[in-house]
Amino acid sequence: MTATPVIEGWFTTGAEPHLLATRCAQCSNLVFPPVPVDDARAPLFCRNPACDGTEHTTVPLSRRGTVWSYTDAQYQPPAPYLPASDPYRPFALAAVELADGIVVLGQVAEGYGTSDLRVGAEVELVVETLHADDSGDRLIYRWKPVAADGGER
Ligand SMILES: [Zn+2]
Repeated sequence: MTATPVIEGWFTTGAEPHLLATRCAQCSNLVFPPVPVDDARAPLFCRNPACDGTEHTTVPLSRRGTVWSYTDAQYQPPAPYLPASDPYRPFALAAVELADGIVVLGQVAEGYGTSDLRVGAEVELVVETLHADDSGDRLIYRWKPVAADGGER
């Protein structure tokens, strides 16, 4: 059995996973999720309306950030949605502000809920199993609260 990301190219796996973003070489504007930078069919224009840059690279984002906002998904989203638990189990979502200057939405780590979150609290990127299928575990990035004392829960 293998473990592969649910979505290829959005994050790395391993002991210290990180998200991947597209950065404009001219103005350093970041885009997450990343977009293909080597598409020969057409130049990739910067999403910053004040920039005419077309050179981009894929860069890693900070592994830690602070909670910008959060909520929970009490009801199963309508299709199409990424496979979830069956029966449906509510999960928390956090929008996390990274030092890179970008806010990234993601699920909150397994075992944590909105009662474990507060605006401004530090979280760290982890990679966990979203579900398993015939090819093995399918991985997703999540935000895990960092305990004030640095300990694990
Ligand atoms: Zn730019």
